[in-house]
Amino acid sequence: MEKIDILSLSLDELTSEICVMGEKKFRAKQIFDWLHIKKIKDFSQMSNISAQFRDELSKKFCLNQLIIKKRLVSRIDNTVKYLYELRDGGAVESVLMEYNHGNSLCVSTQVGCKMGCSFCASTIAGWVRNLEPSEILGQIYESERDSGRPVDSIVLMGIGEPLDNFENVVKFLQILSESGFSLRRVSLSTCGVVDKIRELAKLRLGVTLSVSLHAASDEKRSAIMPINRRFDLKTLMEACDDYFDQTGRRISFEYSLIEGVNDDDESADELITLLGGKNCHINLIPINEVKEREFRKSRSILRFQKRLNAAGLNATVRRTLGADINAACGQLRRDDLLNS
Ligand code: SAH
Repeated sequence: MEKIDILSLSLDELTSEICVMGEKKFRAKQIFDWLHIKKIKDFSQMSNISAQFRDELSKKFCLNQLIIKKRLVSRIDNTVKYLYELRDGGAVESVLMEYNHGNSLCVSTQVGCKMGCSFCASTIAGWVRNLEPSEILGQIYESERDSGRPVDSIVLMGIGEPLDNFENVVKFLQILSESGFSLRRVSLSTCGVVDKIRELAKLRLGVTLSVSLHAASDEKRSAIMPINRRFDLKTLMEACDDYFDQTGRRISFEYSLIEGVNDDDESADELITLLGGKNCHINLIPINEVKEREFRKSRSILRFQKRLNAAGLNATVRRTLGADINAACGQLRRDDLLNS
């Protein structure tokens, strides 16, 4: 019989499993703390659990671990980029970044991606599978162990579309919250899967929603983001307003500037029309050039920002971290696939 992935169990689920084994409820809480607060790697480290019960645990459950396949450390600002190997040989990336307010970790939610955004390296070889909650948590735990730096905030902005792995991502958030990590310190980035944005809003988890916009007219957005052909801008904006109304959380819009595609005055004005008057933040990102794609970094980022600011929009340019290891998201895994 296949062992149960213990790190993917919520506290309630773990409690039921432990009670079925004839143990008291408080044992489940002790085990949960070992797994998600002390973040141990082996059942043998659970020192307040009897050796006999630890043995039973290791027969019934497995402790899913990620292996660091590659680690790139920036000499400029301590940014660390990890390529993690999963138990089936797949690989995902995480990036640990240092800000004034603490360490932020960008985690992946899928192996590959189905969304097909034309500038993104994660989607080139398609989608392989969804990550389990334990594999999303594992990226946090392993990067903390390896770097010795506690993670203070998390962004679901690595490989994959979090809302295309809705169930596992919500379970991940539940376990994270049960471990005492405030979900107000989590941001979830989506290309705009509207039906799932609405489902997420209903859960009122307190996570910040980041929406990858990258263009403010349906014509331009559909040309670079296929999801826009399924859910157009009007539908997306209605879902964003609903998210704000239900959660009170201000939405953050990401806009990666691509030379000659979405960085001219007309595009800025479309953005002003779309977002003017909304309580939101716009994150302008210099596009990371992807080897396999023609897109080039915009040379008019500051001009674009000024135009938005002059119209009263709250737009900032994302600081570039780890410029010396600045492979685009998904490029590390992609290079690894090509070389193996
Ligand atoms: N699928 C989710 C989260 C992963 S992508 C989403 O689309 O939001 C994280 C962010 O990086 C998104 O805003 C995405 O559009 C952006 N991105 C992807 N490739 C990029 C590139 N080459 N340069 C800059 N941003 C990129």
